[in-house]
Amino acid sequence: MAEAFPWQDALWQQLAGRTQHAHAYLLHGPAGIGKRALAERLMARLLCLKPDGLNACGQCKSCHLLAAGTHPDTYVLEPEEADKAIRVDQVRELVGFVVQTAQLAGRKVVLIEPVESMNINASNALLKSLEEPSGNTVLLLISHQPSRLLPTVKSRCVQQACPLPSPAQSQSWLKQKLPDLSQQVVEELLFLANGSPLTAVQMHEQGVIAQRAEVVEGVKKLLKQQIGPSQLAESWNSVSLPLLFDWFCQWSQLMLRYQLSGDEAGLGQADMSKVIQYLADKSSQPKVLAIQDWLLAQRQKVINKANLNRILLLEALLVQWASLPGPR
Ligand SMILES: [Zn+2]
Repeated sequence: MAEAFPWQDALWQQLAGRTQHAHAYLLHGPAGIGKRALAERLMARLLCLKPDGLNACGQCKSCHLLAAGTHPDTYVLEPEEADKAIRVDQVRELVGFVVQTAQLAGRKVVLIEPVESMNINASNALLKSLEEPSGNTVLLLISHQPSRLLPTVKSRCVQQACPLPSPAQSQSWLKQKLPDLSQQVVEELLFLANGSPLTAVQMHEQGVIAQRAEVVEGVKKLLKQQIGPSQLAESWNSVSLPLLFDWFCQWSQLMLRYQLSGDEAGLGQADMSKVIQYLADKSSQPKVLAIQDWLLAQRQKVINKANLNRILLLEALLVQWASLPGPR
């Protein structure tokens, strides 16, 4: 059964406690905070034949079928490959499911994740199912970036913001999950994951802390002219592009903030704070603003999975980065 996260308690009471359910819910919030698990719990609760208070019983025929992945009244719509789009013909298949009659308990539940991976055609095909509720179907839409959804899709759902855990909740959950980690590593992972505990676990598994150390080391060598932009770009082939752009965007923002405030407490993580301070002191503000604009624009393309030449893009980034310090 899907894990129940302590930071979702209040939301769970409210959702599972409803006597009447909406036709469609939009569960939104940052990635890595457990929205999928929440949707799966709700799916189980909605289909359970003998619910135990707010929770699914885990014992009935429906719960067993769900656990086995063979429940006839559920449908999960997601991209066929990670990071790819949900195609319009996939949505048409779903629409066919929505109009069918439920086989077990008189209710069907559909889960769609992430909703923003549907293009305009796919979204429009889904609108029909959102507009004309047929049978007793509940649609659970999961979105990490609700700003990218069509307004017509959003307006047809009950929108439900999913909470980010507090730092204390994240830390205690992460320590339980990965008891071997030191307090320092736990804090570092949560910082790198922007406070999303499930992302922190994923980052731990992917070795992101070591990647970060490698990237920071590379940036320092670049500024000391011990390595060239293209050689450095190629050496980072194990680090994901969105992660690299997140970091460089953060660094340029920290630089600008320090230029404006002169506040040494606002220099970010210790691993880069000296470098940020040095660059902020040595670079003109227009240059920092220009690289920040460029980084934000490229980051958007990276997030939108535009077809990018990774090495050329990183090289362009590092050439600009290396030329930051200069006459003011
Ligand atoms: Zn049950």
